[in-house]
Amino acid sequence: MLALGTTRSCIRELFEYGLRQAAVVGKENVYDFSLGNPSIPAPAAVNESIVAILRERDSLSVHGYTPAAGAADARAAVAADLTERFGMTIRPENLFFTAGAAPALISVVRALAVEGAEVVSIAPFFPEYRPFVEANGAKFVVVPADTKGGFQIRLAELERCLTPHTQAVIVNSPNNPSGVIYTRETLQKLAAALKAAAVRFGHPIYIIADEPYRELAYDETEVPFLPAIYPDTVICYSYSKSLSLPGERIGYVCVPDCAADSAEVYAAMAGAARTLGHVCAPSLQQLTVARCAAVRPDLEAYDRNRTVLYDALTSYGYECAKPNGAFYMFVKAPGGDAQAFSDRAKAKNLLLVPGGDFGCPDFFRVSTCVSPEMIQRSLPVFRAVIEEMAAR
Ligand code: PLP
Repeated sequence: MLALGTTRSCIRELFEYGLRQAAVVGKENVYDFSLGNPSIPAPAAVNESIVAILRERDSLSVHGYTPAAGAADARAAVAADLTERFGMTIRPENLFFTAGAAPALISVVRALAVEGAEVVSIAPFFPEYRPFVEANGAKFVVVPADTKGGFQIRLAELERCLTPHTQAVIVNSPNNPSGVIYTRETLQKLAAALKAAAVRFGHPIYIIADEPYRELAYDETEVPFLPAIYPDTVICYSYSKSLSLPGERIGYVCVPDCAADSAEVYAAMAGAARTLGHVCAPSLQQLTVARCAAVRPDLEAYDRNRTVLYDALTSYGYECAKPNGAFYMFVKAPGGDAQAFSDRAKAKNLLLVPGGDFGCPDFFRVSTCVSPEMIQRSLPVFRAVIEEMAAR
């Protein structure tokens, strides 16, 4: 814990460096692509709902404790929305509200982390998975990235990572940091591999579907509903990105009835949440979700940023799988060493996250949830850095 608390996150460090540099060279001369903080406001319906809740309801009920798993109307609204969208019955009792995806993930991992457990993650992956898994005594196993196939899943490599100790595989699609959405075909193959391994080992292997970016898909790309492909799936959802509410801390765990030992998994997750103090998620936000469960974001601004950056960077010679989800691009570092490339860019106040912590040290992440004006100002710098590398 001391090591975790004293090691700085490279993303945070870059972001804070950007703030310091802005004071020196001017805000307009810093091109900060480090954070995954939404750059579009929450939909109007969200703010209107919050105002209406504060006006209409008595203060004690708005700000009081809810049941540990969440307010009945919030659970009912989300269950109805999921059932309608995905054609699988989700009951309010399948849902447990959390303060965002992070506590949802930690609670599910903790619930599944029996002694000797292994949890598999597919590179590139959200760096926090490692501490979430290791802090619960489980082994963190990494499937190497599919850098040549557009960041889908290397199934043969994944199969090699499965052992009798495998309890779960974390699947994050749309993906942070690649922005790629796993295709239905990829997920069907993954499901077949996990089903076969579960039979071989004589116990279920769960998919933990980490879905904060579920609603952020472009070009009408399908984001398949994983429980319909692989029943032993537990969903961790968040409104941080979909409704631009990262600071409000609201999300949920969904353990569908189709998952093996569903009731026990749900109870163990609730127990894990209890040991971590992750009960009774923020009440005002639960009430907001109760009214806004069917609200979806307007993605136009993110889509435009994605297109402008992808087109410009690839025209300068950068290599990148075209992202069709989330708000990130994962770009091959010219020269092959993303840390060195990121340092070179940083010297020009262009802040890019090297991919080492995501499990891909030869790629860097560009967050596309930024202002279009900053993108335009940054383009000559992106070009200058790659030209400089080519001239070496
Ligand atoms: N999972 C992924 C892939 C993320 O990118 C993030 C946040 O950036 C989280 C989980 C955590 O989300 P939350 O802010 O809802 O805890």
